[in-house]
Amino acid sequence: MTMKEAYLYKKETENRVRCFLCNHRCLIKPGDRGICGVRENREGILTSLVYGKVIARHVDPIEKKPLFHFLPGSKSYSVATVGCNFKCRFCQNADISQMPADHHRIWGDDVTPEMIVDDARSSGSATIAYTYTEPTIYYELAADTARLATARGIKNIFVSNGYMTEECLEDLSPDLHGANVDLKSFTDQFYKQQCGAKLAPVLRTLQKMKETGIWLEVTTLMIPGLNDSEEEMKDLAKFLADLDPGIPWHISRFHPTYRLTDRSSTPAESIRRAREIGYEMGLKYVYTGNLPGDEGEKTLCHECGDLLMDRYGFYVRNNRISNGKCPHCHSEIPGVW
Ligand code: SF4
Repeated sequence: MTMKEAYLYKKETENRVRCFLCNHRCLIKPGDRGICGVRENREGILTSLVYGKVIARHVDPIEKKPLFHFLPGSKSYSVATVGCNFKCRFCQNADISQMPADHHRIWGDDVTPEMIVDDARSSGSATIAYTYTEPTIYYELAADTARLATARGIKNIFVSNGYMTEECLEDLSPDLHGANVDLKSFTDQFYKQQCGAKLAPVLRTLQKMKETGIWLEVTTLMIPGLNDSEEEMKDLAKFLADLDPGIPWHISRFHPTYRLTDRSSTPAESIRRAREIGYEMGLKYVYTGNLPGDEGEKTLCHECGDLLMDRYGFYVRNNRISNGKCPHCHSEIPGVW
């Protein structure tokens, strides 16, 4: 596969280039790569090293993204390349997200946007999810595929850390229908020490997505001793509720992995308490994640409390939402149905 000239960069003096795909806004000298490790300055031309180099392709239930209020029970054709603009010490996909940084390798099958859309279609998927690693860093592939998918009646979803620039989001927004964005913490210290990033750009992305009308759900991986204080959970949930109380918030259970192995899994009780906090702060839909069989996997009407959707893990057992409404009290349920 040929190398692809990057989108969203500009040339500066002495053949240096400034990438503005994500909020690192790397200034890259000739021969160097950006923080994500997959964008290289080749004699003044910023080049994507992962265009069409797909490391993972799976048909997943959309609930696995997780998206609980977006075409529930449908299939989502999920793709990724290697690389990430974050360095999360607790990454669950570090083998592929950190492959360029940790192993100096860029692996993947040669796949075109046409092939991805064709495969998505023949698998009966309603959406294509750009996921597993950070889609922003393979933006050229994601944007080309998303454009084609939209034209063929397939919707597009980003599962993202939310670090893309406003320019990137504006460029993509006509073809981006839904997103699950991680809000990993509500402190800058956590973002700096655990991820190598900053909090503020993520908050701006969440605001911008809501303004643009992209369907948004948010996930927080709750890690013992790092982001699990009552105060932090309250601040985070309040921010979301102020933005839009209809944003579904997924609180997910941490298990030790990658570089964060010095602490145990999140106690189920902490996740359940955080769910209560979400409701106390005004959110209407709060879910527990990585706790299969938990009560917090169910969707209950925010008005009358009726059971709307019963799930086990990623599987929808029963969906009673009718034309986007509760069958009991007829309240509108926020989502894409
Ligand atoms: S996408 Fe990569 S090269 Fe571009 S600003 Fe982000 S980390 Fe830097």
